[in-house]
This record gives sequence, C-alpha cells and structure tokens, in this order.
Amino acid sequence: MAVELKSSAAFAKALEESGFGEDGIRTTTLMNQRNTKYSIFALPPFLLFLVFTTLSILPWYTALPLAAAGFFAMHHVVTRVILNAETYTDSVAKSPYFASIITGSVFWVGEVWLVRLIPNTPGHALAHLAFAISFVLCSYNFFRAVTLDPGTCPKPASESELRTIIEELASEGRLNGQTFCISCMARKPLRSKHCRICNKCTARFDHHCPWVWNCVGVNNHRQFIIFVASLVAGICWFDYLSLAYFSQLPRIPLINPKDEAMCLAYPTYCAISSTTDASFVFAVASWATLQLLWTILLLAGQLFQVMRQMTTFEVSNLGRFGFMGGCERDGSIRKGAESV
Ligand SMILES: [Zn+2]
Ligand SMILES: [Zn+2]
Repeated sequence: MAVELKSSAAFAKALEESGFGEDGIRTTTLMNQRNTKYSIFALPPFLLFLVFTTLSILPWYTALPLAAAGFFAMHHVVTRVILNAETYTDSVAKSPYFASIITGSVFWVGEVWLVRLIPNTPGHALAHLAFAISFVLCSYNFFRAVTLDPGTCPKPASESELRTIIEELASEGRLNGQTFCISCMARKPLRSKHCRICNKCTARFDHHCPWVWNCVGVNNHRQFIIFVASLVAGICWFDYLSLAYFSQLPRIPLINPKDEAMCLAYPTYCAISSTTDASFVFAVASWATLQLLWTILLLAGQLFQVMRQMTTFEVSNLGRFGFMGGCERDGSIRKGAESV
C-alpha cells in the first residue's frame, strides 16, 4: 500500500523509528539498553582525546583529514553499529550521543586549564577566577538541564479519570489538540506540547534539545539559558588564557628547529607548534571556539524570545495557535484571542 501511495520512504522511516526493519522484523541492537547508553556516552570523550592528540603531534595537513575521518568513524559506529539505525533518526536523538560530545568537550577544556594553563599563566588571576566561575556554572547547569524533569504533564491514573477529563472538556466545548494530547491520552495545559522523542507532553515546551538529552520546558529553561550563557563566557575566557599561554612560550620551535625562518615570520604559529603541549592547547581552544558559532546564535535567540515572553516553539508557530492570536482555517479569530 505504501508503494501505491508513493510513501515507501516515509513508511520505511516510520518502521525504523518503531524499531522494525523494512522486512517487518524487529531490529536488534548490539548491546542491551543500559550498555548501549554507556558505550555511546564513553565514545566521544575518548574520540576527542584522539583528535586533539592527532592535531598536536602531526602537521595540520595530515591531522585535519584524520580528525575529520575520526568524527565520521565515531558517527558511523554510534548510528550503524551501536544503534543499528540506517539513517539519522530519532534513535540518535534519544541517545546521550550529543550530550556526551558536550561532556567530553567540557572535560578536556577543564583538563587543559588545570594541567597546562594554570601552572603557566600565574599572572592572570582574575581571568582564571572568571573562567572558574563560568566553568562551574556551565557544568552544574548542564547537569541540571539534563537531569531535571522539564515539566512532564501527568497522565490520568485510571480509565474512569480519563473518561471524566474527556467528558469535562467535551461539555465545555474545549476538546481539541490544544487541551488534550491523543498520544498521551491526557489533558495538557496551554503552551505545552507533545515531544515525540521523549514521548511525553512537556509544560511550557520550548524545544527538544539533543545537546542536553532532554526537553527544555518550564522546569529547566532557566538552567538551559544559564548553561548556554556560561558556555559562551567560559569559551571567551578560555581563549583569552590560551593566548596568554602562547604569548609566554619560547619563540624557538622545539619539535622541528629547522622551522626557524617560519618562526621569525609568524611568531604565534611558532609558539603554538613549539611543543606538543602547546599544540594540544591550541587544538582544544580551536574546538571550543568552533562551538562559539552556534552557542552565540542560540543564546541571542533565547534571550530575544525571553524578552518577547515566548518559547521557541511558539515563535516558530506564531500563526497557528488561537491563543497566540492566530487565525482558524476559515480566517476567523478565536474567541480566546479576542478576549485577551
Ligand atoms: Zn503528549
Ligand atoms: Zn523531548
């Protein structure tokens, strides 16, 4: 039937998301659920270490393709081997894969700061203090955003309670998608939304964030914004301290003394490539700086939405909801919107 309706691709995706192959047989994963989570969580920090080490001991033209190949291999192992998923599907978003990339990055930034930056840049006490505050705030709020319940809407405990809810809503003429979730079979409050990845309704739903392995809702939105803000601040302070570290390094390349001419022309390049330690710091700082691109955009978007008192989901669906002043399909404004 899917072939007749020309929807075989959508059918295959739906089968995969439900845990079945195209032949209708349930797909199996390599390990049980708990070990799958642990192995996905352990892989990115280890891979990041390999990438940073590769970048610190090999010339950039060899190290960069190897680093890219490393990321590709990790993605392949997580999706095709551990999760046994054919394409990028919800199973990847349901796993702690992206949250582990953040954890691994935070771990290696912390390691570089403790082992390499603190002993070598003692004259920047205030910058170290600012970085330490950002680091603690970022790690703690990341942990809270991951572990807190984002605001799960309760489901009715019994059939009779469900019947009462439906009868109540129907008698008030409010039995619709905004007040009742047919996936959870439960009443849901205004501004909530059903998240198909978490398979539950979240109150004041903002978005599902794979980076925090959780929905962002009424209970963890504040932690999420502090996490992103302290992440941006922390990366800026980390870059500042890394530059201070490079500026006090010897201007003679210790790895390859033949590079002396290059040293005179490009002193910063020379400092970075002077030792494997410095190259490791540069690799970690570059990776952290790369994250600034999306985190600054995300933070600006979040702060703008807080100013407008709207969630990401509401901003992207402004015209759809009656309670946001949107129009019904026939063009009439909902009663609720008129009375606001
Ligand atoms: Zn729901
Ligand atoms: Zn979710």
